[in-house]
Amino acid sequence: MLDACCSNPLAGAETCELPAPALQRPVRQAAFCDSCGEKGKPVQTQTVKAMLAMSLRAVEDGEYLFCRTPTCPVVYFSADGKQTFTADQLRERVYQKEPQAEEVLVCYCFRHTVGEIRAASPEEHRFILEDINAGIQAGQCACDLRNPQGSCCLGNVRGLIKQYATAG
Ligand SMILES: [Zn+2]
Repeated sequence: MLDACCSNPLAGAETCELPAPALQRPVRQAAFCDSCGEKGKPVQTQTVKAMLAMSLRAVEDGEYLFCRTPTCPVVYFSADGKQTFTADQLRERVYQKEPQAEEVLVCYCFRHTVGEIRAASPEEHRFILEDINAGIQAGQCACDLRNPQGSCCLGNVRGLIKQYATAG
């Protein structure tokens, strides 16, 4: 933090001598999926709301987490462990749950599928990455509403490209 502050030309010298303000972060509860035992990744409630194919009356005020385990049917669970939502309750198929399925999207905002990336040449892989990056730059993505993981797909797309590139 101190380095970032000092390297900021707009921050005066005095700023650096001030103690960093204590960040008010909510206390995270146990974040492990009851079904598979793996650690979940926090997601915004609006991601859960956008993804559910059921009455949103079921969504409670509280923290939800995303389970990435491919073999686990649970996609979202509440931090208090009382609620789980499974893949069949969602409006969208989840890449992490079906990483081999051709027609499942990896990039949900600009609609690139597993099959498309699998079949693409190295040059086409570059075009796909350029397309995604251009969309992000233009502010056209909506990962929190489109992608079940609630965050940018780029890491997944890069990982998949690398996987197919090394597979030859
Ligand atoms: Zn799980």
